[in-house]
Amino acid sequence: MQFNIITIFPNIFDSYLKESILGRAQKKGLVEINMHNLRDYTSDKHRTVDDSPYGGGVGMVMMVEPIVRAIKDIKQSDKTTRTILLTPRGERFTQQKAQALTRYDQIILIAGRYEGVDERVAEFIDEQISIGDFVLNGGELAAMAIVEAVSRLIPGVLGKDESSREESFSDDPSREYPQYTRPEAFVADGGPELKVPEILLSGNHAEIAKWRKRGRKHSTEHPQGKA
Ligand code: SAM
Repeated sequence: MQFNIITIFPNIFDSYLKESILGRAQKKGLVEINMHNLRDYTSDKHRTVDDSPYGGGVGMVMMVEPIVRAIKDIKQSDKTTRTILLTPRGERFTQQKAQALTRYDQIILIAGRYEGVDERVAEFIDEQISIGDFVLNGGELAAMAIVEAVSRLIPGVLGKDESSREESFSDDPSREYPQYTRPEAFVADGGPELKVPEILLSGNHAEIAKWRKRGRKHSTEHPQGKA
């Protein structure tokens, strides 16, 4: 699967992309992540990507022309492509959306900056996505969140110890069950002893599975009350 991020900060994720699961996925050829500098698609000597808003108002608006040129250049006709504009006004990104995006060969993500992008960009994209009801400085973090959430659903990207099958949101909108590791009992600064629920030490896999199922429904509550 190929991700293409259109941005004015193409080097912003250099180190992040090389590390861990995403780094390995790229080395294995399962995922390709390309950054495209929007300034490469400008036509003036200052490589201008923004201008003041019609009608007045604060801030600058990203121009439609360079963005459309970038989309046209990146799109490959032999691939199924989804072109997405990142905007706080878009549809909320969810695990279900991440799953739905795995069906495309090529995803183009447009990261805005300043006050946003010229509304006419909407004519050249497939959908608008928000990663939550808050405002970021730019769409780069939103693009990366989508790249990561979609990539980990691609077969082979996660190792066998990192399965996504039982993760939060992977079936109904429930959350992952509570997880514990050593020590069996933990005390911090004279506080109460926090124990691992006994059921998890029982070796009874059927009962553990039932307990975990109950735990999925209430992410913040302990499945058996406080330990
Ligand atoms: N003036 C815009 C508004 O009030 O909605 C905010 C623009 S924001 C400073 C600049 C860019 O960051 C946006 O064009 C968008 O690409 C990106 N961005 C900010 N928050 C986002 C979010 N929650 N989800 C997706 N993209 C976001």
